[in-house]
Amino acid sequence: MAKIYRDDDVDMGVLNGRKIGVVGYGNQGRAQALNIRDSGFAPMIANRDDEYKQRAIEDGFAVRSIQQVADEADVILFLIPDEIQPQVYEEQIRPCLRAGDILCFASGYNVYYGAITLPENVGAIMVAPRMIGEAVRNLYKNHLGYPCLVAAQQDAGGQAMSVALALAKAIGATRFGAFESSFREETLIDLFAEQMLWPGIIKLCLLYFEKLTANGCDPEIVTTELHLSGEFVEIAKAMITHGFFGQLKLHSQTSQYGQLSRLDRMAPPELLAHIDEVVEEISSGTFHAEWINEQKHGKPNMNKLWRRALEHPLAGSEAKLESLRKIVAGSYERKE
Ligand code: NDP
Repeated sequence: MAKIYRDDDVDMGVLNGRKIGVVGYGNQGRAQALNIRDSGFAPMIANRDDEYKQRAIEDGFAVRSIQQVADEADVILFLIPDEIQPQVYEEQIRPCLRAGDILCFASGYNVYYGAITLPENVGAIMVAPRMIGEAVRNLYKNHLGYPCLVAAQQDAGGQAMSVALALAKAIGATRFGAFESSFREETLIDLFAEQMLWPGIIKLCLLYFEKLTANGCDPEIVTTELHLSGEFVEIAKAMITHGFFGQLKLHSQTSQYGQLSRLDRMAPPELLAHIDEVVEEISSGTFHAEWINEQKHGKPNMNKLWRRALEHPLAGSEAKLESLRKIVAGSYERKE
C-alpha cells in the first residue's frame, strides 16, 4: 500500500527561508496560492498581463513576470496548462533556475513524457491534487482536505520530498492525505481516466439517450433522468459513504439484480481489446505524440470532434431545459 502522509507527519520547517513562487493564477494557481498564504507563507505570483493577473491583484497579491518569479523563488509551483508548459519552461523558467531550486508540478505529464527535462542540480517534485481548483480552495476554507499525489523525481539538495510534503500540507491536502506516488503513476491514473473511464461513461449516456428516444421516450425526460435530476451525483456520493458496491443496497432488488446480472455483458472482447489499445497508446507515448502533432496543426481534429459532440440531440435537449438546469446547478455551486 502507498505511504500516506497526514498533517502530523509533515514538518513545515523545511519551507522556512525558501521563497515560494506560483506561476499561473488559473484553476490550481489561484486556489493553491490562497491556501499557501492562509497557511502562513507569502507566495509570489507570476502571470501575464490579463484578467488572471487582475484577479490576483484583487486577491491582494503583487503580480510579477514569470522570469522575475523564476529568478527570485527557490520553490516554483508551475501551474499553467500542461500543453503550454514546455515552451514557457524553456523560454522563461529554465534560464532563471539556480542549483538547489525546486520546480513543483501539479501533474506528472510533461516530465514523464520527457517534454520537460530539468538540469541535474534542480529538484523536480510533484504535488498533484486529485481535486479541481475551486474545491481545493473551498475544502481548505472549510477545514477539510482532499487527496493528492506527491513525488520527488529529482532530488537536488536532499530535501525534495520533504518540500513536496510541506507544500501538500500548505495547500491543505494532508488534512485528508498525501499519497507517495510517481510522475509516471500520476500520468497513467489521469490519462486512463480521461481516455477510458470518462469516454466510456459518456458514450453509454449517449447510447442510453439514443436508444430511449428511438423507443419513443421523451428526450427531455431522458435528459433529466441522465444528469439533470442530480441522481448521478447522489449515487457517486453514496459510493463514498456506503462503498462502491455497498451503495447498490440503496437501489431496489430489481435494480440490484439488473445491474449485477448485466455487468459482464457490458465488456465484450472487442471493448476489452479497445481498452488494451488505449492503455498501450498512453503507456508507449503514442497518444502524447498524437496530441503534440494535433496542437502543432491548430487542433483540427479537436475542433471537428467538438462540433460533432455539440450536434448530438442530447445537447439540443439540454438547451431546452436550460432554466431547469440552472436551478439544479445552483444547488451545486460553491463560489468564493
Ligand atoms: P489553467 O488553465 O487554469 O491555467 C491558467 C493559467 O495559465 C493562467 O494563469 C494563465 O494566465 C496561464 N497561462 C495560460 N497560457 C499561458 C502562456 N502561454 N504563458 C503563460 N501563462 C499562461 O490551468 P490549471 O490550473 O487547470 O492547470 C495547471 C496545472 O495543474 C496543470 O499541470 C494541470 O495538469 C494541473 N492540475 C489541474 C487540475 C484541475 O482541476 N484543473 C487538477 C489537478 C492538477 P494568462 O492566460 O493570463 O497568461
